[in-house]
Amino acid sequence: MEYRHLGRSGLRVSALGFGSWITFGDQLGEDAAYQCMKTAYDAGVNFFDNAEAYAMGEAETIMGKVLKRAGWARSDLVVSTKVFWGGAGPNDRGLSRKHVFEGMYASLDRLDLDYVDLVYCHRPDLHTPIEETVRAMSDVVTSGMAFYWGTSEWSAEQIRHAAEIAAREHLVAPTMEQPQYNLLVRERVESEYAPLYRDLGLGTTVWSPLASGILSGKYNDGIPPDSRLGHERYAWLRRTLEGEEGAWRLRVARDLAALASELGCTPSQLALAWCLKNPQVSSVITGASRPAQVVENLAALAVAAQLTPEVMDRIDAFAGNRPAEPKDWRTM
Ligand code: NDP
Repeated sequence: MEYRHLGRSGLRVSALGFGSWITFGDQLGEDAAYQCMKTAYDAGVNFFDNAEAYAMGEAETIMGKVLKRAGWARSDLVVSTKVFWGGAGPNDRGLSRKHVFEGMYASLDRLDLDYVDLVYCHRPDLHTPIEETVRAMSDVVTSGMAFYWGTSEWSAEQIRHAAEIAAREHLVAPTMEQPQYNLLVRERVESEYAPLYRDLGLGTTVWSPLASGILSGKYNDGIPPDSRLGHERYAWLRRTLEGEEGAWRLRVARDLAALASELGCTPSQLALAWCLKNPQVSSVITGASRPAQVVENLAALAVAAQLTPEVMDRIDAFAGNRPAEPKDWRTM
């Protein structure tokens, strides 16, 4: 396994992480989750991602049981959670000081941990002053409930604003962002955030590297019933395969599959390896509904070593979505 610094922090995360969205609680119970996490851990994965929202807390409960059962040293793990969607009550969502703290108490209880390593603001909260959120997250860190805090799907401007408040008020600044990043979604990580890597030392732990499985090629000839997009609850994900955009996604997945077979790897491995090639990515968070997928996906690290500039250019050429040169904040 390769370990990368989380941005400019001293923390090292495995270049491939493992997350629990949709899978834990909805597709996998404790035993299957244990098998997947153990397979990942045995291969050197130290970063396990979660959120209070996943399966309405059940994903954290399952992960907590797996950690207990496995008995791994706490110092060998980087466990994360996210606050934002905690329930239906008026104060159960968003990033008010009240929900940030109550969300953290509930997550730690479900995970059965004294602290998480990372906590993210799962989305920006436009109804809470950002000063309130920055102070609450900073206090979560100084109280020892988490070691680092970050954001997920915040704009570059929002992240910069949070960092400026933290500097001005002598608070703990955000360390990392958790954005979507895959061959189909590139703009934010490659362009919008570029000045933040330089100015703030921002780290990134990226999600949906296979675009929910589309880049594995499993949807190239239809939707298998035992797949994520085949699940009745995820009609909104199925719609990503519709229309012109959907046709483009499937065309990219087919071209990727053809290139993978030329390189002697699987499309999933090539898609994950492509994410790993970006040095601004601290960790690529993988997802899997069965241990065999974990095994397949972990081999992406070896594939990344094979991706020459020529291969990367070929991928850019068939995807046709390489972002323009990054915008520079200071010239905007
Ligand atoms: P992916 O895009 O990699 O999708 C994972 C899914 O693809 C699996 O559950 C499986 O679904 C399928 N798959 C995985 N590997 C293979 C393979 N080798 N062959 C065929 N199918 C495969 O990642 P996720 O969307 O799961 O995101 C990863 C993690 O990122 C999440 O668990 C979560 O921790 C985090 N995340 C964070 C978000 C945020 O807002 N911050 C949002 C979303 C995710 P199946 O077998 O069921 O078809």
